[in-house]
Amino acid sequence: MYKEALIIDDLHHKYDNQKNSTWILNAINLKIGNGELLGLLGPSGCGKSTLLRLIAGFEYPFKGRIILYKREISNKHRILTPEKRKIGMVFQDYALFPHLTVLENAMFGLKDKKKKSRVDFLINIVGLDKFINKYPHELSGGQKQRLAIARALAPGTNFILLDEPFCSLDMRVKLKLRSELPNILRSCNASGLMVTHDPEEAMSICDKVAVMNEGQIHQIDSPIKLLENPKTIFVSSFILGNNILNLEKEDNSYKCCLGEINTSSLEVKNNIKFISISPKFISIERSNDGLALIISKEFLGEYFIYKISIKGETLRVRTTINKNFNIGDKCFLSIAKDSFFFLYPGAKKIFIQ
Ligand code: ADP
Repeated sequence: MYKEALIIDDLHHKYDNQKNSTWILNAINLKIGNGELLGLLGPSGCGKSTLLRLIAGFEYPFKGRIILYKREISNKHRILTPEKRKIGMVFQDYALFPHLTVLENAMFGLKDKKKKSRVDFLINIVGLDKFINKYPHELSGGQKQRLAIARALAPGTNFILLDEPFCSLDMRVKLKLRSELPNILRSCNASGLMVTHDPEEAMSICDKVAVMNEGQIHQIDSPIKLLENPKTIFVSSFILGNNILNLEKEDNSYKCCLGEINTSSLEVKNNIKFISISPKFISIERSNDGLALIISKEFLGEYFIYKISIKGETLRVRTTINKNFNIGDKCFLSIAKDSFFFLYPGAKKIFIQ
């Protein structure tokens, strides 16, 4: 058994040949362990689909290599064609064959149609055994995506690429299928890479998450490690939804729009420029002398999210529902007790007692 299913080594890509154009993928390095599900997470336009296309074999890389189960499948000079890669693909829009039944769809990629025991196994695993003679239009969205997953894994493939697989499903079906996906992959020893722009989706089911922005991977870690130690400002704001505020140095101390920052536990203090703080760790009090102004308010069931402007910066504050303020109210903001924040560069975590 190989330790790593997929290795991406110093991969670079762009769609034009211009010498000075920016890289769409810039020095991508990642490894997906055998049996692991890696989430590729980033905002729209950051290069996720491009990376997927390169792994699937639809594009030549400009530089670097892709290795699947110890076999080099892509480099600048040579790519193994998509059909020879043994990579299953699952798309947002299911991409099923409308004129084929569930069983025929699932068997589509099978070279030897007599070897259908794996198909039967997979159809069972995804819960479609009672639907084998139905056509795609007779299935619900969730059932269609289950079939797409079974079809992707049926030809003995142990590696699948999932491109925003839950995007078209309604919330209830999405949550159910999403929680089942790791078990489906585990039951047939498969590894995978799932592309998503939704932090919650990646964090809830993936063993590891690669956080990407503007063609670069900022951090690859387990969901817990990403939350505990977001290494860059981008990870801090995209994954944790933190406020990123400017820091100003005054003599030996640092200030942000929430007041002075305690940096006594920092060894190197000279170059810190930003503080990253969660909306839930900012205290808010109504005050006519306050410099902060509430500019919008959202009610999210169990709490409020206020957008607040203060000293030229805009930040988000999360409160319990007993802190019911109005747009236009003046208030006073401070860093809450029993909280923490991060300082950048350096990603140093500072606890507040
Ligand atoms: P994502 O999947 O994260 O939304 P993409 O990989 O689709 O991002 O796109 C990354 C960047 O590459 C974008 O700036 C996009 O405009 C550009 N791009 C994508 N496909 C092509 C293409 N075929 N030709 C030229 N530019 C492209």
